[in-house]
Amino acid sequence: MPWVTKRFSGDDLSEPAGMLRDGYCVAFPTETVYGLGANALDSEAVQRIFAAKGRPADNPLIVHCCSVEQVCLVARPWQERVQRLMDTFWPGPLTLVLPKQPVVPLTATAGLDTVAVRIPDHPVALALFRLAGVPVAAPSANVSGRPSPTRVEHVMDDLDGRIPGIVDGGPTGWGVESTVLDCSVYPYRLLRPGGVTFEELSAYAEVELDPGMFSETIASPRSPGMKYKHYAPECRVVIVTGRQAAPVIRKLAAKDMVLGKQVGVMAFSEHSARYPHLTVLDLGSKYALQEGASRLYHLLREADALGLDILYVEGLPEKELGMAIMNRLRRAAGYHVIDSERD
Ligand code: AMP
Ligand code: MG
Repeated sequence: MPWVTKRFSGDDLSEPAGMLRDGYCVAFPTETVYGLGANALDSEAVQRIFAAKGRPADNPLIVHCCSVEQVCLVARPWQERVQRLMDTFWPGPLTLVLPKQPVVPLTATAGLDTVAVRIPDHPVALALFRLAGVPVAAPSANVSGRPSPTRVEHVMDDLDGRIPGIVDGGPTGWGVESTVLDCSVYPYRLLRPGGVTFEELSAYAEVELDPGMFSETIASPRSPGMKYKHYAPECRVVIVTGRQAAPVIRKLAAKDMVLGKQVGVMAFSEHSARYPHLTVLDLGSKYALQEGASRLYHLLREADALGLDILYVEGLPEKELGMAIMNRLRRAAGYHVIDSERD
């Protein structure tokens, strides 16, 4: 149904909370990216999220709660080890996959008997959930497949007219989606890297990396959403890894430009001088990866706004937050990665 999308400020939450209670979708800020929420306990409301985003029905949603009491409503009782993770990282960018309570509709979990839950660390999101009084199922507030929204304008670009309300909370913090950790198996499985890092989690429990994190060809029944193309701008994205990345990118870009293509490079500030004749999208300092994470999706949208045909990206070390950034970039690139040190 087409809507005249209403925009609310963070201190004007009673109407959007009413929309959630009445079974409609509202976009809201979190500390990771903007989410598109609906009452997680109402199957029809949840279906409206899938319709607004054009999201495949077999990609389950994260249920957002404002308290551990609310988490008890949607997830079955958990072990002490899980409690420690909650105590340490909540509220925050960590989603835990746990056996679900029957009250959670299968539309929200894509038919799985587990539910993904988290308590976000954003005052507007928490106030909205408290006022609505229900757990809120919410994927990122973008059209499916597009880069996630980190600014309210990104949400408007994708969903204006497709949802009744958007709460404006300014730019989001982390800029990449939450870490997803499957706690229904042990060792726990890292399904998606994010702001809470593999290294941090490993200090509390044994954690394995899910093979689906690295490849589109490895089907991961544990994380159905990871098989879809994600985070992609219109332009072609190519990642170049290794020590020879800069000369390889310059050579490839020169060839593209001869063919009349608009070419850009995404690189750390310290490396921008390596590309004197190219449009450089600045990922911030390589010593402040958090800056890069928070800019990533805006820069991918910017690549389209600039009319680029091809965007080369310097690969970055896959540790700490770099693991999450590379995970998103690999998907944005459709897994097109060139190793500059091979032949
Ligand atoms: P998004 O809502 O777009 O941030 O994506 C949510 C992510 O969480 C997707 O990658 C889903 O596959 C994953 N997810 C949600 N629920 C489950 C679940 N029950 N089991 C495994 N992964 C899940
Ligand atoms: Mg998403």
